[in-house]
Amino acid sequence: VAAKKRQTGSAIYSPQLDAGSQESLSLLSELRRAVEGGQLRLYLQPKVELKTGRVISAEALLRWQHPERGLVPPMQFIPFAEQTGFIRELTRWVLAESAQAWAALNAQNQALRISVNLSTRDLMDQDLPAKISAMLAQYGANTDSLCLEITESAIMDDPQRALETLNQLHEMGFKLSIDDFGTGYSSLAYLKGLPVDELKIDKSFVLAMETDLGDAKIVRSTIELAHNMGLTVVAEGLETGMAWKLLAELGCDEGQGYFIAKPMPQEQFSAWFKAWSAPDLSHESVETMLG
Ligand code: C2E
Ligand code: MG
Ligand code: MG
Ligand code: MG
Repeated sequence: VAAKKRQTGSAIYSPQLDAGSQESLSLLSELRRAVEGGQLRLYLQPKVELKTGRVISAEALLRWQHPERGLVPPMQFIPFAEQTGFIRELTRWVLAESAQAWAALNAQNQALRISVNLSTRDLMDQDLPAKISAMLAQYGANTDSLCLEITESAIMDDPQRALETLNQLHEMGFKLSIDDFGTGYSSLAYLKGLPVDELKIDKSFVLAMETDLGDAKIVRSTIELAHNMGLTVVAEGLETGMAWKLLAELGCDEGQGYFIAKPMPQEQFSAWFKAWSAPDLSHESVETMLG
């Protein structure tokens, strides 16, 4: 079934794919070629402070510029890379590219933190913390330049090992963030012991909050929970001006979403940053919008 699906061209990866199958092996070698042959692209999407519109950081999001299939979104190859362990190669590429992007933006006075997504396999890699510092040092970036985003489910795969790695990363000075909060199965009792700085409300709640009272309540209580735990809270999936206003009223610290900007390549991001930060544009209009 998986092979047929792939030939008809809709999805590169389907969860039915057998790890040892011919198809899986060929996808793996295609991915390897993607890394070596320069087919990966790093996209950046801003996170801004809702009170002021100030750009705080940018999330690094991976894309695959495939020679025949065009720009492939991460959900079509990241789960496969996680399943096979190849994700470590991808993470290494993303970290190096992010450090480089940070240095380039910083040189243009566009100082911000870059957020990189980590998966379970990365957390199981005991050399990860050392690899990250080496990568940053190469570009003159310090630990404060980077935030690491981890989903609840990635942590819950092996909570003990995850906690060890997270503690180590935290002690080194990296900011840590819980991604897609509200969609996993972690308990609050467990979360309170994690050395995290930030919580990202999953976009499913934020996208629905304007029309669904239940979602609005989840968003409101998550913001309160985060603040009670001393965490910065970020809303992902901020798609409208009304959502911005509501989130700001609820005290949400930061937002990320299509209303602000879609993920884009570094050059474009830099131009966006410049336009957004022009004094006559963003800051005043944010104040007007918030009334
Ligand atoms: P994520 O880490 O939760 O990233 C946020 C996703 O939400 C991104 O999807 C982003 O484009 C999308 N998004 C942002 N604002 C909006 C909005 O206003 N509306 C809607 N509908 N969507 C919005 P993307 O880039 O397709 O990435 C999907 C997921 O793939 C990421 O979710 C993350 O779990 C994974 N991913 C992407 N890059 C990497 C990577 O380098 N490493 C790892 N391990 N995972 C990655
Ligand atoms: Mg993320
Ligand atoms: Mg997320
Ligand atoms: Mg997500």
